[in-house]
Amino acid sequence: MPILRVYIISMHLKKTPTHIVSAILVACFVLAIFSITKVQAQTKNISIKQVTNDAPNLIVITTDGFRWQEVFNGMDFDLANQKVFNHGDSLYLYKKYGAATVSERQKLLLPFIWNTVATQGQLYGNRFKENKVNVANPHWFSYPGYNEIFTGYPDSIINSNDYPPNPYSNFLGFLNTQKEYKGKVAAFAAWDAYDRILNDAVSGFPVINGFESVSSLLKDPISENLSNLLKDSYQPFKKVECLDVFTHYQAMHYLKTKQPKVMYISYGETDEWAHHGNYSNYLDAAHQVDAWLNDIWNYVQNTKGYKNNTYILITTDHGRGFGSEWTTHGADVKGAANIWFALLGPGLQKIGPLGEQTKTQQLYQKQLAATITKLLGHPFKAEHPIGEAIY
Ligand SMILES: [Zn+2]
Repeated sequence: MPILRVYIISMHLKKTPTHIVSAILVACFVLAIFSITKVQAQTKNISIKQVTNDAPNLIVITTDGFRWQEVFNGMDFDLANQKVFNHGDSLYLYKKYGAATVSERQKLLLPFIWNTVATQGQLYGNRFKENKVNVANPHWFSYPGYNEIFTGYPDSIINSNDYPPNPYSNFLGFLNTQKEYKGKVAAFAAWDAYDRILNDAVSGFPVINGFESVSSLLKDPISENLSNLLKDSYQPFKKVECLDVFTHYQAMHYLKTKQPKVMYISYGETDEWAHHGNYSNYLDAAHQVDAWLNDIWNYVQNTKGYKNNTYILITTDHGRGFGSEWTTHGADVKGAANIWFALLGPGLQKIGPLGEQTKTQQLYQKQLAATITKLLGHPFKAEHPIGEAIY
C-alpha cells in the first residue's frame, strides 16, 4: 500500500536530518526577519496605497486529496451507509449532508462553492459532464501533486513524499521576484513537507508549515496565543501535520496584519481522515474548508486593496479511488489522477463562461501555474518546461 509507505517515510524523515532542518529553519528565520525589517522600513516611508499596489492579488487554497466525486455529487450514500466508514453513526451524515437531489447535496456539503464560486467564478472537473481535470504526474500522491501545481512541471523524478528540497522553481517564488509582489508572498501549510516542496531555503518567501508558528514572522499577542494553542493542541496526525484550524487562523492573522499580495493556504485534514476511513470527519473537514473559503472571500471583498482585485484558486493535489477505495490513492488506485479546480476573481471571462464548466474538455494540473500567473499579468517563467495556460 503506497500511502502507508509514504506516511512512514514522512515520519522517518522528520527524525533523521535534524541538523539540516535546524540549519534551514535558522536560515528561514534570518531571511524572514530580514524581509520583515525591509518591508517595515518601506512602510514607514511610503503610503499604504504603494504597499498594496494595484497589481492583482492572489490567494491559492488547497485541501488535500478531496475527491471530485464529493465536489460535484455531494455525500455518497453508498459510503455513508457502510458501518466501516460511518463508524456507527449514519444518521449524523444523513441529517447533515443527505438530500434527494444533486443540487441540494452540493449546497449542503459545500455551500460557498455552489452558491458563490459556481455563480461568480468557474468550477472545473465534473466528469459526469465530461469536463475532466487530471494530474499529469504518474504518481498520484501529494509531493508530486503540489510540485505540479506550483512548478507546472510534473517531472516523474519527484516520486516520494520524502523527496528532498524541490530542485524546480515555483510560481510563488517567481512572483516574489517581480517588483509588484516582492516581499509580499507567504505560504501557510498544515503538512510539514512544504518547506521542501516550496524549497523555502531558496524560494525567498516565508513558508510556515506543520507545527511552525506565525510568531516567527509576527510579534504580537495574537500570534503568541496562536503559537501556544498550536503547541498544546490535539495531534491526531502526530508531528507530521497539524489540525487545519491552526493553519487557517495563523494564515488569516498574517493576511490581516501584513496584507500580502500573494498567499497560499494548504489544508490537510480531508486526506488524513480519508486514510483513516472516517467519512464523517472527511466530509466535515471539507465543509469547514468551504466555510473558511467564505470567510476569506468576505474579507477580500470588504477590504481596500483586495476588493475586486484578488484571484482565488482552489484545488487539490490528487484524487482518490472509487467506491471502497475512496480511502486511498496512488498510481495503483484507479481514478486517483482525477481532480478538480475552481477560480474566483476579476477578468475570468477571458478564460470562458462563468459557473460550472460543462464543456467536454481535458485539462491538467500542470496548466494551473501558467494560467493563474497569466491572469495576474506576470506569466510564470522558469528554467524548466511549464504546462500551457488554459486560455
Ligand atoms: Zn494521502
